[in-house]
Amino acid sequence: MIEKNPSPAAPVQHFIRSIVEADLASGKHQGIATRFPPEPNGYLHVGHAKSICLNFGLAQDYQGTCNLRFDDTNPEKESEEYANAIQEDVRWLGFEWNGPVRWASDYFQALYDYAENLILQGKAYVCDLTPEEMREFRGTLTEPGRPSPYRERSPDENLDLFRRMKAGEFPDGSRTLRVRIDMASPNINMRDPVIYRIKRAHHIRTGDQWCIYPMYDYTHCISDALECITHSLCTLEFEDHRPLYDWVLDQLPVPSHPRQIEFSRLELHYTITSKRKLLQLVTQGVVSGWDDPRMPTIHGMRRRGYTPAGIREFARRIGISKSENVVDMAVLEGAVREDLEARAPRVMAVVNPVKVVLSNYQEGLTTSRSAGFHPNHPEFGEREVPIAQEIWIEQDDFAETPPPGWQRLTPGGEVRLRYSYVIKCEEVVKGADGRILELRCTIDHDTLGKNPVGRKVKGVIHWVSAAHALAIEVRLYDRLFLDPEPDGHKDRDFLEFLNPDSLRQVAGWAETCVGQAEPETRYQFERLGYFCADRFEHQPGRRPVFNRTVTLKDSWAREQA
Ligand code: ATP
Ligand code: MG
Repeated sequence: MIEKNPSPAAPVQHFIRSIVEADLASGKHQGIATRFPPEPNGYLHVGHAKSICLNFGLAQDYQGTCNLRFDDTNPEKESEEYANAIQEDVRWLGFEWNGPVRWASDYFQALYDYAENLILQGKAYVCDLTPEEMREFRGTLTEPGRPSPYRERSPDENLDLFRRMKAGEFPDGSRTLRVRIDMASPNINMRDPVIYRIKRAHHIRTGDQWCIYPMYDYTHCISDALECITHSLCTLEFEDHRPLYDWVLDQLPVPSHPRQIEFSRLELHYTITSKRKLLQLVTQGVVSGWDDPRMPTIHGMRRRGYTPAGIREFARRIGISKSENVVDMAVLEGAVREDLEARAPRVMAVVNPVKVVLSNYQEGLTTSRSAGFHPNHPEFGEREVPIAQEIWIEQDDFAETPPPGWQRLTPGGEVRLRYSYVIKCEEVVKGADGRILELRCTIDHDTLGKNPVGRKVKGVIHWVSAAHALAIEVRLYDRLFLDPEPDGHKDRDFLEFLNPDSLRQVAGWAETCVGQAEPETRYQFERLGYFCADRFEHQPGRRPVFNRTVTLKDSWAREQA
């Protein structure tokens, strides 16, 4: 049964949409401007997909704009590879950013000039405390901090020292520039946070031009303001940083003052959404790379066969709020499955084959029937499904001693071959070790396109003709972790919960038409699930490689009835 096509689903109302609508209605803004601000220090994951769908989705829904801005203030961890992969992911998800890609580093000079401005106002100072001392002076949640001995330096002295920091006169880490706010603030973020540090690190865009780098909190608010972002959306851990965001902008002659709004991070059961831990999976070789189909990265989901529309629908369903957003993997799989149900052509493949010899079918003869690629989409076309004397069926579709209610093949029992005849199992041929070598069956010649006379055959199984089928490699994926919250255990490492069977590689047989499929073509292999021709390893002229995207809902039996 085909379910509704999910793409035109109505947006789900949430508090950020309400804020945007109110701001447009009151005339506070004529249009909205959002941004997606990833740090190019890893590949994007499903949590980022939520943020992308929110930021770009709002811009679409309210005829606004959304910028893509790299937060590249941490030169050591950042790379061009990551930045390129992120752009590819945003586009693949179906979004386009406003104007050029932006970089926080585009604003390094402006950020520097604003820092001098703060110094001249007496609102920033150069501090010589070591990191340990600074931590000690900062105080705790229950104790106020103490002022740094360097807090009262004059603007002139600070300006001189800051310029010399920039000129490279001091060693890495020896001095910082801090804003002068309130060492007694109950919010630790307001206790004179560092806004510049000295670090001789090669930057992916500015090279060795700078040896001082601005901190994230200082950079982010000013970048937003320079781009005239109206609504700066971020995850809840930045709630405590909002006073600093506003403070910095209140001190400076910036062109706008965006409103920061926080929402809860997505967490998905049975996987992890920490870039650091995902990187660990890659560097330790637990997975084959950032794009391993078991990874919750956008690259991984793409390679596995998830569709952009399926992921967008998932984001729509999980909604946006400030309360915990822990979601079961089944919600993501469900959204993807529904999308594939409507768009993937259906063919037959056998992944765990046992041979069936049709003893009363004429040797050497091939006949065929045409079958549509999709029951609800005649426009997908048809192909011929050939049959000859030997066919492959799924081992699981045969049982010598079947459980009660079994509707598939069994000695002396009958079953229908999908699009073809009813067959009856006459003999089980075994090897010396007891393994089944082949099944000998007969066909009922009078059952093509019609029910047998005088009896009911309920079961329908998939199959392929041995002489015509194409050998394929199939990768069956399961969850990467066995625990719903692998990184939620205090004394156990998340790697302890790896699922040893998360990848099973099997050799199978498929209808020949899949051989022509371009990489990333998706099919339903009837009764087995949705599969996607591997983006990289599936190549014309070579043995096809298919990744199982997701299994089918258990609806196949009903569908055929
Ligand atoms: P990590 O903690 O894994 O390094 P991050 O938040 O530092 O992730 P960024 O590249 O800074 O990664 O994220 C870009 C944007 O995506 C930010 O606005 C961030 O709030 C958002 N984001 C990151 N993870 C999630 C998540 N799990 N759910 C929703 N939004 C997220
Ligand atoms: Mg971040």
